[in-house]
Amino acid sequence: MSMTSAQIREAFLSYFAERGHQRVPSASLIPGNDPTLLFTNAGMVPFKDVFLGDEKRDYNRATSSQRCLRAGGKHNDLENVGYTARHHTFFEMLGNFSFGDYFKREAIQYAWEFLTGVLQLPKEKLWVTVFTEDDEAYAIWANEIGVPEDRISRIGEKDNFWAMGDTGPCGPCSEIFYDHGEEVWGGPPGTPEEDGDRYIEIWNLVFMQYNRQADGTLEPLPKPSVDTGMGLERIAAVLQHVHSNYEIDLFQALIKAAAQIIGTEDLNSKSLRVIADHIRSCSFLIADGVQPSNEGRGYVLRRIIRRAVRHGNMLGAQGTFFHKLVPALLEQMGVAYPELVDKEKIIADALLREEEQFGKTLERGLAILQDALDELHGTVIPGDVVFKLYDTYGFPVDLTADIAREKELTIDVEGFDKEMAAQRKRAQQASQFGVDYNERLKSSQQSEFTGYTDVAGRSKIIELFAD
Ligand code: ATP
Ligand code: MG
Ligand code: MG
Ligand code: MG
Repeated sequence: MSMTSAQIREAFLSYFAERGHQRVPSASLIPGNDPTLLFTNAGMVPFKDVFLGDEKRDYNRATSSQRCLRAGGKHNDLENVGYTARHHTFFEMLGNFSFGDYFKREAIQYAWEFLTGVLQLPKEKLWVTVFTEDDEAYAIWANEIGVPEDRISRIGEKDNFWAMGDTGPCGPCSEIFYDHGEEVWGGPPGTPEEDGDRYIEIWNLVFMQYNRQADGTLEPLPKPSVDTGMGLERIAAVLQHVHSNYEIDLFQALIKAAAQIIGTEDLNSKSLRVIADHIRSCSFLIADGVQPSNEGRGYVLRRIIRRAVRHGNMLGAQGTFFHKLVPALLEQMGVAYPELVDKEKIIADALLREEEQFGKTLERGLAILQDALDELHGTVIPGDVVFKLYDTYGFPVDLTADIAREKELTIDVEGFDKEMAAQRKRAQQASQFGVDYNERLKSSQQSEFTGYTDVAGRSKIIELFAD
């Protein structure tokens, strides 16, 4: 069976609607009234208060196709884009939810029936995991569904205890993997080779049971609930018989459009995949009200746009190109997301402005970096170079780190932090002498600080490299 992304989305939503789930439209990428979270990073986010028992709805089962962003905060896949076949910054998560209604058994039965019945995936291609201690889920998979035990693994907290963020709803989970076949490198879940592209996690069933408090303790939720998430692009790859998300209909269209606009022929280039990924996250962020800036969400957006611009530059793009991809994106996603169509001009204008601004310093910054690389002894780009690129040429630190990674180098984060602290100190001292440039210093200080802090004010610099 081969299905388009739109057909899969519809099949999923109608399967669950027929089973008593309320269809709920995708919410914004900006979580409403939740300062603990940078972006909507999963389908459950709009339902957080329902899980916690703080909000009542007139339904206790729901289904949605939620737009998600994972480029900051607890779930950050920015560094994976271009490197794995399965990660995007922006993706759609198909989900079914039970708010104190059904629990493990039905969640597992529904998922299995949808995959093997509706989508007709061969059973022997599916592998499952459960949380180490979850004998109940293990028994359902083994005895009721009949998955052979050599395809069920028990996995620890890192992968099989899902949490929205540092606080909030969480619980043990059970993940379903698809085996893309032996021609693809990688090992089954729980093995050291798991991170290859052969066994791909397609669906996560979370058995929501706790609310994690700020001190780390787990408080039971009012009622055990279910939250599931299946990446639309990953299941589309399976159903379209391709081994990478970037080979599905939607991404191929974006990649071809980008290649044409930039004037490059190699459709397999990593840079085209990155650009195709980034046009989605940037456009949707702008449509949801974010503008490039030096702080919080706006800085995440700025960082993603600048990465895209740098990849365009690598492909030899002459002048601005990124904003020209908006029509191709609308062609792919405008029907499912009319709000994107409404905001077309706002999106293209914001992208163009940012491209123009960064375009002015990019070439010069790259030349400075090249000089530093020519003189480099060892494999670490010094902190003062990283700082100069950041401060004078507008290179976000993660962008410099990304360039470094391509050359199998790293950057001196500690050295960068020291430069940053020194500059802050200079600014403070200067402000004690003259009132003249107080104001100017204040605003530049603000942008330094917030440039790499999240909305909760924690330093993000570590996290950029942790994920
Ligand atoms: P992985 O281990 O592959 O990084 P995950 O365990 O972090 O995935 P979950 O938090 O369980 O992912 O999210 C539920 C589902 O959403 C996943 O099973 C996958 O299908 C999809 N998904 C997660 N992250 C991404 C991403 N960055 N891009 C595309 N799809 C994703
Ligand atoms: Mg992940
Ligand atoms: Mg996982
Ligand atoms: Mg998972």
